[in-house]
Amino acid sequence: MERLLVVTLTAKKTPITVAYGDGIGPEIMDATLRIITEAGAQLDMERIEIGESIYSRGITNGIEDSSWDSLRRTKVFLKAPITTPQGGGFKSLNVTVRKTLGMYANVRPCASLHPYVSTKHPKMNLVIVRENEEDVYGGIEHRQTQQVTQCLKLISRPGSERIVRYAFEYARANTRKKVTCFTKDNIMKLTDGLFHKVFDEIAKEYPDIENEHWIVDIGAAKMADTPEAFDVLVMPNLYGDVLSDVAAQITGSVGLAGSANIGDHCSMFEAIHGSAPRRAGQNLANPSGLFHGALLMLSHIGQGEVAERAHNAWLRTIEDGIHTYDIYKEGVSKEKVGTKEFASAVIERLGQVPQHLAPVEYAKDAQMDVSIRAAGPSAEKKHVGIDVFIDFPGGDPDAIAGRVNALPLEGAKLTVISNRGTKVWPNGNPDTFWSDHWSCRLESGGGDFSGKTVVQILAAFCMGGFDVVKTEGLYTFDGARGYSLAQGE
Ligand code: NAD
Repeated sequence: MERLLVVTLTAKKTPITVAYGDGIGPEIMDATLRIITEAGAQLDMERIEIGESIYSRGITNGIEDSSWDSLRRTKVFLKAPITTPQGGGFKSLNVTVRKTLGMYANVRPCASLHPYVSTKHPKMNLVIVRENEEDVYGGIEHRQTQQVTQCLKLISRPGSERIVRYAFEYARANTRKKVTCFTKDNIMKLTDGLFHKVFDEIAKEYPDIENEHWIVDIGAAKMADTPEAFDVLVMPNLYGDVLSDVAAQITGSVGLAGSANIGDHCSMFEAIHGSAPRRAGQNLANPSGLFHGALLMLSHIGQGEVAERAHNAWLRTIEDGIHTYDIYKEGVSKEKVGTKEFASAVIERLGQVPQHLAPVEYAKDAQMDVSIRAAGPSAEKKHVGIDVFIDFPGGDPDAIAGRVNALPLEGAKLTVISNRGTKVWPNGNPDTFWSDHWSCRLESGGGDFSGKTVVQILAAFCMGGFDVVKTEGLYTFDGARGYSLAQGE
């Protein structure tokens, strides 16, 4: 251990950007920085202001232009929680930073600390790797009729490849044994199907790591019931958003977890909790969430041995029953301490390892290669039809079909009408509920659609008195259907 420390102390300092945030932020940041500095972290820190003080100057995303320069320069951001003002057009700083700097992976380790923090899952120790940019989080939404709104779910091959590769590389670098993928590809065969397909392809490149796939509903149930069955989990954005909170909660305390947002240009490390304004300025807050964020940062910048030293001292402190108010429990805890005293207790234990909890071991000098290798699209793309969506209140499928079939359709054939994805014509079921949002599928019967055909069909719909709210092209790729069938088709 001492030899490792000497190596670190002689190492070059890594530039990082630090924001102390709002509420309890400054206290937990001070405590975190004290511990990791004492543990031997070699950091050259630049401080930026974010959050309330910036929002109050009318800057709606909570961060000044000059701060971006610091983030681009250091590429590493240790961030305390901030208070997001309610309403008034203010935007979430986290979302802004994540999206602007292309942070594609969210990583959240969740491990229980039984019996020191009570949990129903004493053996839980998993890491959720969540895709961070795609899925429904593009926020591309439209209201199209009186009754119907839509949100676009986008999943790309490079986006899926990068996150899946990250999960396998993370597992290998951190000597984890299994990567599990959650999707809902029994329903979303194209979007989640692509994520699952990419997972299967990339898993073959990591024969040393076990892999498996679960449908997200039963997988989530299993994770909530038997989390020790999982090791590293990788999933699209929405499932990851929900399940990473579930996973943190069932460890016993959401207040102890940290997370990393990883990008090619900049990565951000933080606690998962907020700024807890009611606890601010009282030396009460638990710094452990931000501290865990800082451990992920140290590992990311190649100071894994410092992270290991600090983490083991922290485990020893928890084990010794030195607890802040949020995890203090009569009969289990020995001493209730404030933020500063907790940090001092961890510092006193640097160099020690836990006696009962498992000591942690961090990757040293692990190189992670998450470059995207898959070739670009090479399949032959053919345009074979179009879905024309119409706003038609009080509609009746037979009546709509009659009117559409009377239009000059340029050789295209109306093959199906669906309502919210369920076939209603031909031979619809009388029990199906009809909203005012209908999709008319027009197909070429194997021939290629030209842009001109599309324009002529749309003109015919408009001239025929239909309110066209959107269209979707129907394509085949090397002959394989690139669109879903309606339910019941
Ligand atoms: P919160 O996580 O700040 O607090 C919820 C409760 O958890 C607090 O009342 C407190 O009792 C407890 N708590 C949280 N962190 C603690 C800690 N370190 N030590 C001890 N107890 C702790 O959630 P909230 O009250 O919903 O949000 C407060 C503010 O934080 C809001 O403005 C919200 O927008 C913001 N927020 C910021 C982030 C972020 O910056 N990443 C994340 C979530 C919420």
